[in-house]
Amino acid sequence: MTYQEWFNAHASKHAVIMEKLTALSESEVIEYFRFENMVINEPNFCLLYTDNKKCHETEHLNCYWCACPHFRFNDKGFSTQEGKILYSTCSIDCKEGKRFISDTAIHQDCTSCLIPHQEKILKKDFNRNWRITMEKAPC
Ligand code: SF4
Repeated sequence: MTYQEWFNAHASKHAVIMEKLTALSESEVIEYFRFENMVINEPNFCLLYTDNKKCHETEHLNCYWCACPHFRFNDKGFSTQEGKILYSTCSIDCKEGKRFISDTAIHQDCTSCLIPHQEKILKKDFNRNWRITMEKAPC
C-alpha cells in the first residue's frame, strides 16, 4: 500500500466516524477520539488497537489528527540526497523530529513528536473535516 492509498483509506474511516458524531460538540468529538475510547468503540480505525498499543508512549494520546497535518510524504520521493530518495519530511521542522536513513531512502521519524496528539493543539485548529486540515499544506 502506498502512503497515498493509506491516506485515502484513513480519510474515509475518519469521515464515517464523524458522520456518527454530528450531534457532539467539538470538545466531545475530541474526547471521543481519545485512544482509550477509540480502542473500544472504533476497533477498526487503527491496526494498533487490536493489541491495545499506542504509537507513542504517552499517557494522553488523541487519535483525531492521526497522520499529522505537518507530515509530508511523496510516494515518488521529493528529491535525492546523497544517492538516497527523500520520501517524507516535517513542514514545521519540529525539533523532536528525526530522520530514519537506510541505504536507499530517507524517512521522517516522528516517534518522539507528540504535537498532533495533544488536545490543546488540535483544539486551536479543529475542523470536523479531517481532509481539510490534512490537506492544508500540499505534499
Ligand atoms: S494516533 Fe497512533 S494509535 Fe491513534 S490511530 Fe494513529 S497510529 Fe493508531
